[in-house]
Amino acid sequence: MAEADGATAAPRPDPDPDDVTWIESPVCQECGTSIRVYPTNYDRWVSLAMVELPAKDVPEAFRWRLTRLPTRSATPADIVAVRVRGIDPLPSEPVVPAHSMMCVPEWGEP
Ligand SMILES: [Zn+2]
Repeated sequence: MAEADGATAAPRPDPDPDDVTWIESPVCQECGTSIRVYPTNYDRWVSLAMVELPAKDVPEAFRWRLTRLPTRSATPADIVAVRVRGIDPLPSEPVVPAHSMMCVPEWGEP
């Protein structure tokens, strides 16, 4: 009956179910690569690669740039993706390629 004394009740830190501090980074559902998802300046969302590449390595249709929206508030979350067009970036100028440029589904190989 020694256990009835409570001697075995070792204090255990209760795992806090609300403490989910890790942030799941978005992953492309096609190929499983980590992506960045940003709103565009026309109410759509775009998946961008995690890296920047020189403009010469990115076809024009996939060139994006991240821009901070001019806003009166100090909210730091107002970053939008803007297509790079109309201007001709220097070949060495870094642009953010759309993820679709480098998306290779694992099961997509013929
Ligand atoms: Zn992908």
